[in-house]
Formats: sequence, structure tokens, C-alpha cells
Amino acid sequence: MTTSLFFLMWGLATALALPLLLPFHGRGVEGVPAFMAANVLAVLSMLAYAAADIVPPGAYVMVSNAAWTCSAALVYIGVRQFFGLRPHILRTTVLCSLCMFGFALLLYRNDSLVARIMLFSLYTCVLMAATGTVIFRQRKRIQTGGVVLYLLLAFFGVVGIQALRAFVYGAGLAAPVSLLQPSAWSLFFIVCGSVTVPAMFLALLFLIQTCQAEKMQAALTFDSLTQAYSRRSIMDALEHDLQRCERAGGKLAVLVLDIDHFKSINDRYGHAAGDTALRHFASVVQNAVRSSDRFGRLGGEEFVLLMYDCDPASALVQAQRVCDALRDTPLYLQGLEVPMTTSGGLASYQPGDSADVILARADVALYQAKEQGRDRVVMAWSGRGVVRAAGGQPAGAALALEETAGSTA
Ligand code: GH3
Ligand code: MG
Ligand code: MG
Repeated sequence: MTTSLFFLMWGLATALALPLLLPFHGRGVEGVPAFMAANVLAVLSMLAYAAADIVPPGAYVMVSNAAWTCSAALVYIGVRQFFGLRPHILRTTVLCSLCMFGFALLLYRNDSLVARIMLFSLYTCVLMAATGTVIFRQRKRIQTGGVVLYLLLAFFGVVGIQALRAFVYGAGLAAPVSLLQPSAWSLFFIVCGSVTVPAMFLALLFLIQTCQAEKMQAALTFDSLTQAYSRRSIMDALEHDLQRCERAGGKLAVLVLDIDHFKSINDRYGHAAGDTALRHFASVVQNAVRSSDRFGRLGGEEFVLLMYDCDPASALVQAQRVCDALRDTPLYLQGLEVPMTTSGGLASYQPGDSADVILARADVALYQAKEQGRDRVVMAWSGRGVVRAAGGQPAGAALALEETAGSTA
């Protein structure tokens, strides 16, 4: 009776994860239906033992073992689905069916408790270790610290306990008894199981929740079309860099880029081709700049590059390199080579600059670059003048300093 109550507690503790999984099912998260079914079957497996006093042994042992067998298989399939891997449904179903067939033989034909314990433990070890291995291999896709460790502890915790159980009974360290017999080992395995199995389902919930939060964070941080930083995050980065400049007297160059005659690409090849051109532009720029520079999309076909710790002369060379890279990297749309160029306005940090002020200076310089014929970079200089890099020239070409007092203030 006492051990039945333990199983009731174990089942109820396992069921706690079920209502928490439900909202993710509604949102169509991959793998969640399998996790929910696995949870229901695991609970059924515990409750079958809890009902041992009122159900014949031939029924509750088989129901409990079959339910657990399917539950472990569904956890494995669900984890693979969650990570977008092939779920291996056929091979898992075959393994699961063979295991259930083995239980039936070892219960109804040659009743052998120790063989059933060995089969149960071996099967659970294989499935849980395989699931843990999938999680370990996918660990780089989870950024939040501690989540993978918790998952691995939960899965390999189940493996460790089942391996110990197989060892204790298989090696004859203790006489094999049903978990319902209140022996010291039985109680030990019930206590361990009632911690690790609910922990495993909570760990899956933790995994889903973490990945969803990370996806939302990425959606806010990056522009979905070009994968450049979003306007919001690049503006935050600009504010942050300006504060660093103010505190530590650092250097910052801000380059505003606008694709030349972009509307004509849309008009000639269609909006989808325009999107391809935007992605092409972003990838060319990202390949041309330093890894420490941050590149973001301000909106439409206007982008910004933040070059921290970069003096104005180096920034101008870098900006020119971006123009050259775009001109020299062909874009193909509908089988045709489409020339693409960009104009840029460059501004460097002046004490007291706010984000709006430095961007406004870069915008004025950009306007001048457009005025002067596009495919070039113009640099706003100390808010009083501009430096111009001639269009179409390779990186490192002579740069002209032009005083246009008042034009960029
Ligand atoms: P300029 O050289 O003076 O910059 O000319 P432009 O044609 O590049 O500039 P304009 O402002 O006239 O046109 C920008 C176009 O960019 C208009 C708008 O439809 C298009 N656009 C803005 N956002 C997107 C987008 O996300 N995808 C696509 N395909 N087009 C976009
Ligand atoms: Mg444009
Ligand atoms: Mg524009």
C-alpha cells in the first residue's frame, strides 16, 4: 500500500509538466505533441503501479511497462523533432515494439522478474542516452547557460539509475524484487525515479521555453530579411558606443549607406528580386568589414555601420572598401547581372554627440554623396566640412579633403 502511494506521488509529480506544455502545443512548437503524449504515458505507467492493489498483476505490470516503453520512445522522437532532425520514427517504433513483445514473453510465457528488470533498464538506458546525445550534439543552438547542463543531468540521471538497477539485480547484489516490495533498493529506486522522471519533463519544458525566448530575442535583435542588426538594436549599440566614447575618450565612426537607384531594381525585377538584392547587399557589406564593426538596417535600403575604435582616415578607407566590394561582387537576378552600387555618408564622433546628431551629420554627407553622382563616400568632418572619396576608385585611392563650411552642421 505504501509503495502504491509512492507511485501515485511519482505519477502526479510527472503530470505537473503537462499543463505547462499545453500553450506550446497551441503555438505549434515542433516535438511538443510527442512530449505531451510521452508525459501522459509516463503518468499512466506510474498510476498502473499505484493501482496494483485493485488490478491483477498480469495487467498492471504489462500496462505500466508498455506505457513507459512508448513514453521513452516519444521523448526521443520529440527531441529530434524539436531540433528539426529526422525523427527516426520507424526504427524507434521497431525497438519499442520489440521491447514490449519481450515484456509480454517475460511476463506471460516465462515469468522472469530479473529478465524484465534487465530489459526495462537496458531499453531505458539506450533511449535516454540517445536522447541525451542528441541534446549534447545540438548544444550550440542553445545560448542560455545552464539549460543544456540541466537537460543532460536529467537524461543521464535516468540512465545512471537504470544502469545501477540493472547492475544491482543483474550481478546478484540484491534479490530481484518488484518495485512494489518495500525493500531498501526498491525504495531507493522509487525515490530516484520520482526525482529524475519529473525533472526530465521539466527539463524538456525548460528547453522549449528557452529556445522560444531566444528566438524572440533574435527576432528583436536581427532584421529578418537581411540578418543585419535591427534598427532597434543598432540604435542601442550606437547609444552604447557614444557613452563609451564620452566616458573613455574613444573613437567612433558612423557610416550611413544607401543603395543607389534601388527602386529601379524593384521596378524592373519585382519586389522579391529587390529583397534578394537587399540580402546580397547585406552579405557583401558584412564580408567586407571588420568582425568588430556592427552593421544594421535603419529601414528600407538604408543601413548603418558602426566602427568603434576606428580613426576617421581608417574609417574612410573601410567605407571605400565597402563601396568597392559591392561594385565588384556581381548580383544575378533572373539570369542577368545587375550592377549595384551604394553611397555612404561618414561621420566621426565629436564630444557631446548624441545618436541623432551624429546620424544627422552622416545623413547630410550621404546626401552630398548622392548629389555628387553616387557610388562614393563623403565624410562629414568635425561638423564643418566633408572629406570626399572619389567614386569608382579602388580602396586606398587618394581621398580629397573638401571644406564646405556650414554644409554638414
Ligand atoms: P537613390 O539612389 O536616390 O537612393 O534612389 P533609390 O531608388 O535607391 O531610392 P528611393 O528612396 O527612391 O527608393 C527606395 C525603394 O526601396 C523604394 C521602396 O519600395 C524600396 N524598398 C524599401 N524597403 C524595401 C524592402 O524591404 N524590400 C524591397 N524589395 N524594396 C524595398
Ligand atoms: Mg537608395
Ligand atoms: Mg533611401
